[in-house]
Amino acid sequence: MSDALPALRDHLAPVEDLKAAAAVLAWDQETFMPDGGAEARAQQLSTLQSQAHEQFVTDETGELLDRAAEATADADPLDDGAALVRVTRRDYERARKVPSSLVAELSQATSEAKQAWKRARTEDDFSIFAPHLEELVDLSVEKAEAIGYDDEPYDALLEEFEPGLTTADVASTFESLREPLVPLVDAIADAPQLDDDLLRRSYPQSTQKAFGEQVLADLGYDFDRGRQDVSAHPFTTSFAHSDVRITTRYDEEFLPTAFFSMIHEGGHALYEQGIDPALARTPLAGGASLGMHESQSRFWENHVGRSRPFWHHHFPQLQEAFPNALGDASLDAFYRAINRVEPSLIRVEADEATYNLHVMLRFELERGLIDGTVSVNDLPERWNAAMDDYLGVVPNTDADGVLQDVHWSMASFGYFPTYTLGTLTAAQLTEALRDDMDLDARLADGDFAPILDWLRTHVHRHGRKLTAPQLLERVTGQELSADAWLRYAENKFGALYNLN
Ligand code: ZN
Repeated sequence: MSDALPALRDHLAPVEDLKAAAAVLAWDQETFMPDGGAEARAQQLSTLQSQAHEQFVTDETGELLDRAAEATADADPLDDGAALVRVTRRDYERARKVPSSLVAELSQATSEAKQAWKRARTEDDFSIFAPHLEELVDLSVEKAEAIGYDDEPYDALLEEFEPGLTTADVASTFESLREPLVPLVDAIADAPQLDDDLLRRSYPQSTQKAFGEQVLADLGYDFDRGRQDVSAHPFTTSFAHSDVRITTRYDEEFLPTAFFSMIHEGGHALYEQGIDPALARTPLAGGASLGMHESQSRFWENHVGRSRPFWHHHFPQLQEAFPNALGDASLDAFYRAINRVEPSLIRVEADEATYNLHVMLRFELERGLIDGTVSVNDLPERWNAAMDDYLGVVPNTDADGVLQDVHWSMASFGYFPTYTLGTLTAAQLTEALRDDMDLDARLADGDFAPILDWLRTHVHRHGRKLTAPQLLERVTGQELSADAWLRYAENKFGALYNLN
């Protein structure tokens, strides 16, 4: 047998090690690092990341890929070796197309833009951020031109997060989501509102932590291969199949903040813990796409964590944990409270139904920025008009509007749509899972093992071997579509809000 594949793997493993080491430093930066460490940490991260990049884009990687491609030419596409060659080649060609001078320019521009964005947000002054955003748009268009695309430059940027999906695919799927969703949200807004006061009582942090971590363990999150800490913005990070960490944040006066972020991040972590260990230290050891990753967090957060059967089993335990806050509450009242829908200004605080409208608005605006049909100066006005149009609420300040998210200051154009792609994918996967088992009965029994096992088999273990559209087609027989989520949402919120 040819040694081409082992040689390729040996060459790629140290690159993955460097990336994992950078991830450890980034995790520490968000959790335990003292403020004084910021400058040194930025240098350390930059060194590790550029080392990883330089080792990856060498001619040697290309030669090893060519040799390994010959050795795997007749293999099944799901064969580990064939997938390794295919996915690594895709990453390699993309990485080689962007000149290192442009990478450096983008890195410098984003670090300045992030500072400017923070100040603009604090001072509620978009003009502080605007020139930086203009520069990031120009550099991102330059990057897209370097990478190449079929229809529009946004395609090249989207591809970084969603390989195999085009801007036109996303736009038409979102269109078919938005048309029924806007009237659904309107109808909910006109219906008598659900009461969520019982979530705003006193919930001691230590009890929230104990209860949440017990649920995470019940769902199948392996604390021997992970841990949970506190950070300002919850996230999941993986250093290896055997070390996948999550973070959360607590609000002692609002129970959902920590609990739902725990199972959301837990969903991301279950994906990473479930990737086939044979793919370790290769570019295949990750999620198929950001959208597919988000489908796993949304599945556990919403289809499990905000379902009635889940709380049928867990509500008595929750009441026992918080007797003062919930002793007099009913399961039904709790279920209604955690599913309250209310059009609001801030994306990260939005409920399950309106969240998608926040995402679509951002997608349309950033697509326009990249294709030149939206100018940076018009952005605040366009933002407010779209908020009014989609959600019926308009921010009083840019800080609560166009300046609320960090993504554009990081030049992460193409990232926003992945949130809603994940939501739609989660609903499609849930329908497929329901064809194979009685999900509600499993949830009502607190019997999560068969559910996780199903996800492991159909989604997790493949890592990046298949693109998200390929994986979805394989599991559900369908292309990406809004239909499953619309069925789910109309059914659930129709019942909760007595809509007809
Ligand atoms: Zn997520």
